[in-house]
Amino acid sequence: MILNQFFDALNLGVLILDRDLKVYKWNRWMEIHSGISAAKIHNTPIFEVFPGLNTPKFNRSCKSVFKFGNLCFFSQKLHHYLFPFKSTAYSGHEFEFMQQSCAMGPLRNDNNEVEYLYIYIQDVTEVAVYEQKLVELNMKDGLTGVYNRRFLEKKLKEEVERHRRYTGDFSVVLFDIDHFKRVNDDYGHQCGDFILKSVSSRIDSIIRNVDYLARYGGEEFCCLLPQTPLKFAAKVAERFRVVIMDQEHNYDNKIINVRISLGVSALQSDITTADEMIKRADEALYRAKDGGRNRVETI
Ligand code: GH3
Ligand code: MG
Ligand code: MG
Repeated sequence: MILNQFFDALNLGVLILDRDLKVYKWNRWMEIHSGISAAKIHNTPIFEVFPGLNTPKFNRSCKSVFKFGNLCFFSQKLHHYLFPFKSTAYSGHEFEFMQQSCAMGPLRNDNNEVEYLYIYIQDVTEVAVYEQKLVELNMKDGLTGVYNRRFLEKKLKEEVERHRRYTGDFSVVLFDIDHFKRVNDDYGHQCGDFILKSVSSRIDSIIRNVDYLARYGGEEFCCLLPQTPLKFAAKVAERFRVVIMDQEHNYDNKIINVRISLGVSALQSDITTADEMIKRADEALYRAKDGGRNRVETI
């Protein structure tokens, strides 16, 4: 009786199962999050109510608790959750279900035999959401929201490795806004920021979801195009050019247009590293600038 009050006061899910995995105890926290009362679930096989729990890992863990008295853990990082409870406390994140860290262990009778197993469940959604945000902050550019240079350099190296190992085409498009200094001079730095955001989000909206758009620095962006040969990447770059040329930026009731120049390079026999890919795309970009801007140049 007294122990029951303690179980119900915990800000943790606690359940106890017998050797047939029927529910013996179900605390208040479990009632609230599952919507199932302790009276209703009592003596019911847990898999009847939560068929998703019936996994090899869960069964193995139960066996090892009953047989050897082991302790088992189900970390949020690996499993996300054991019980599919709606996550109510936080919104606007990608987790559909409450993220849980769980543990399971033995409860012995007076003869030292394992008669029951307990499971406790901790709601770690808040921590998981913060972790996710930190990971995102670490790889995204603060102004534009596209990937940052650190992420780009890491991803570029990984993609070069992957494409070299498994063969296949891989291209990059480097582009730079033309005469961007004038935009800042004529309309102000805030307008420049606004245009950086709208140019990047326009390009981001037309690339495939296997491609990566990153801010390389200042008003220069880089797009990684996995599984894309140079010829096709040049067409993609041309599409970027036209889309940006046609885009009207409405800032403070003024309509502003910008253009971009682009350089395209790809992995090939004489371009085998991430550095070379960028260097050659950069050279192509400078040729595009020299050739009059608002154009695409390839290696
Ligand atoms: P080009 O056609 O040769 O590229 O000329 P440009 O004026 O674009 O090139 P330049 O490198 O001379 O100038 C780049 C400008 O981009 C200068 C800098 O103030 C601006 N810029 C870089 N980063 C930012 C930013 O985060 N916000 C704003 N508003 N401007 C930026
Ligand atoms: Mg520029
Ligand atoms: Mg520049």
